Amino acid sequence: RFIALEGGEGAGKSTQARLLAEALRTRGIDVVVTREPGGTPGAEAIRKLILEGVPGDDGPGWNSRAEALLFAAARSDHVEQLIRPALARGAWVVCDRFLDSSRAYQGGGGGLSDVDILTLHAIGSMGFLPDLTLLIEVAPGEAAKRLALRDTDGTDRIGGRGAAYHTRVAEAFAAFAGSEPQRFARIDGNGTPAETHSGVLAALAPLLTT
Ligand code: C5P
Repeated sequence: RFIALEGGEGAGKSTQARLLAEALRTRGIDVVVTREPGGTPGAEAIRKLILEGVPGDDGPGWNSRAEALLFAAARSDHVEQLIRPALARGAWVVCDRFLDSSRAYQGGGGGLSDVDILTLHAIGSMGFLPDLTLLIEVAPGEAAKRLALRDTDGTDRIGGRGAAYHTRVAEAFAAFAGSEPQRFARIDGNGTPAETHSGVLAALAPLLTT
């Protein structure tokens, strides 16, 4: 099974990926936890390019289309080198962000059309999709509070994006989840990590019994 965790910054995706992997392992399931952008040496190298911006340039960073292509390239390597092989040997893969982050950030936030993002995904990864995508939703104020506590220097984030960008991202995530309910489960992420984890397990229950 391939499970993706999605949501904005500060939603608690990484924590939930870890807690979910632990819960699956106690059920005797072989689990690979990974993240996007990244997860393989090639994709981690592209992650560095994405997060550091255009080398030698202090400007606004990659243009939206170049950024979307870099994400699609990173995902292509990740899918081919890590995700598909893990699934083929019977492991579960829990991935911190996947395609829907590109749809929400490069699409909703960056202004590319959803068709363009899906086309890049068709080219890069043959349209490969998770079995279930867990969208962890938190109120903007709660996310900001968590980020203020977590961030040391911001080097793990793409900076220079205003509140309006992040609002568009959150709205895009909600719209995808609303229009594709068979592919998504929406989880309330405003509570404690344990509370959110309960929501994650409840959403996964149908997959755990089959
Ligand atoms: O999830 P994580 O915090 O590792 O993401 C690193 C950075 O990449 C964040 O700033 C996130 O907003 C950004 N990102 C993005 N588009 C994606 C995935 C991540 O802009 N498709």
